[in-house]
Amino acid sequence: MLLHIGFDDTDSPSGGCTTYIAARLVDALSGLGARFVDYPNLLRLNPNVPWKTRGNGAVCLRVEIDKSREEDALRSVLNLVESYADFDCDNTNPGVVFLEGVVPTGLIEFSERVVKTVVSLDDALKLADEHEASAIGFKNMRGIIGGLAAVGGLQRGDHTYEFLSYRLPGNWGTPRRVDLDSVVRMDEATGGSTFNNVDPETGRVLIAPNGPDPVLYGIRGEDPSAVREAGLMVDSEPLERWVVFRTNQGTDAHLGSHVTASSLRPFSPAILEGLVSSPPRTIQGGHVFVGLTDETGRVDCAAYEPTGPFREIVRRLIPGDRVRAYGGVRGEASSERPTFNLEKLEVLGLARDLRKVNPKCPECGGSMESMGRGKGFRCRRCGLRGPKMEKATEELVRQIGTGLFMPPPRAQRHLSKPEVRYGKEKSGPLRLEPEAPWHWP
Ligand code: ATP
Repeated sequence: MLLHIGFDDTDSPSGGCTTYIAARLVDALSGLGARFVDYPNLLRLNPNVPWKTRGNGAVCLRVEIDKSREEDALRSVLNLVESYADFDCDNTNPGVVFLEGVVPTGLIEFSERVVKTVVSLDDALKLADEHEASAIGFKNMRGIIGGLAAVGGLQRGDHTYEFLSYRLPGNWGTPRRVDLDSVVRMDEATGGSTFNNVDPETGRVLIAPNGPDPVLYGIRGEDPSAVREAGLMVDSEPLERWVVFRTNQGTDAHLGSHVTASSLRPFSPAILEGLVSSPPRTIQGGHVFVGLTDETGRVDCAAYEPTGPFREIVRRLIPGDRVRAYGGVRGEASSERPTFNLEKLEVLGLARDLRKVNPKCPECGGSMESMGRGKGFRCRRCGLRGPKMEKATEELVRQIGTGLFMPPPRAQRHLSKPEVRYGKEKSGPLRLEPEAPWHWP
């Protein structure tokens, strides 16, 4: 029988990681004779939901397994969730979903909604019921939403891969030992087929997280063998295990199609198009805001301090520039002017930067000063008076061109498509069966 096992919300800021449970389950299910029909799927969900611990990731394992081992498989999943989920954390509400057979269209659509919008637990429970999926929730059961979305997230369109390695349990919570030079060498050797290993501006290594979770490092890339080879090039403390996941990271799957300013929804990603309507302003902390207006209303677009040089691009906009803004709404969009957090920006057309300036002296070319409102100008150098002279118009050279602009890799969201992936999007028929070796041990 074909069995899909989706789960989510097992970790907390003080430890754990849903992908680690998946990695342990690969072992457990293989021991039960299961054959994986796809790489373990890591599905990143709407990055704007307020309940996420970190990257709003959920996982689904898809296996062919003998009907007689189904009960054992279900028990292993629940045992692992119960042993590794951090039940003491208020915000940890695990959910596990089992579905037999072909994934129905209703679940595929639900999954897309969970990536792009906010859905209710009621919706998830009803849908699970309708499609005869077993949904098991712990505490407030919110994890069922992510678990069901992972089951429906077949990722038949664009997708990427991530090699995730895990630490020996005795090392959890201690500083990670990853040889930075080996990461730079790996990045140079695999550039093009892997992405976001090193932040080019700061040289910061991006593959290793900082928290107490079991992940040692993760390498993202275009195909399973590329990320595996890259993963094995890194020198580090001993690994407990590693797994290659198939994922929607780096695909912009959350952004959907273009919406209008008035139809922005709370906590939801979106693409907006319109005209810059107010000059950019920088507030305390270095965050930059700029007004954007379309035919239905206005939003304030924000580029926060961690986005570094991206803010400089936003600062160079002027009213009248035509832009396409990619990002999401922070918090409730109920205020008159919702804040739209920028993930990237496409400058489609530049306005002319025309400024009124004092005229140049027609005699000596010196700069002139006003003699008072409506009283003309006087040359500072030769004293020539021009009582009828008016301000001249000067056009400033724009310090920005049209094109796509993104924050540096260190400030990109898991789902944001990095510039290096443009043109590499995958579509069409997929060979899903994982190619060995895709996990260890
Ligand atoms: P990690 O990345 O380490 O797995 P996380 O950042 O994924 O952690 P979770 O602890 O899984 O965060 O919490 C996210 C919670 O929000 C889950 O319970 C999930 O079911 C729920 N959730 C995710 N996306 C949505 C959505 N679009 N609408 C409603 N609930 C959602």
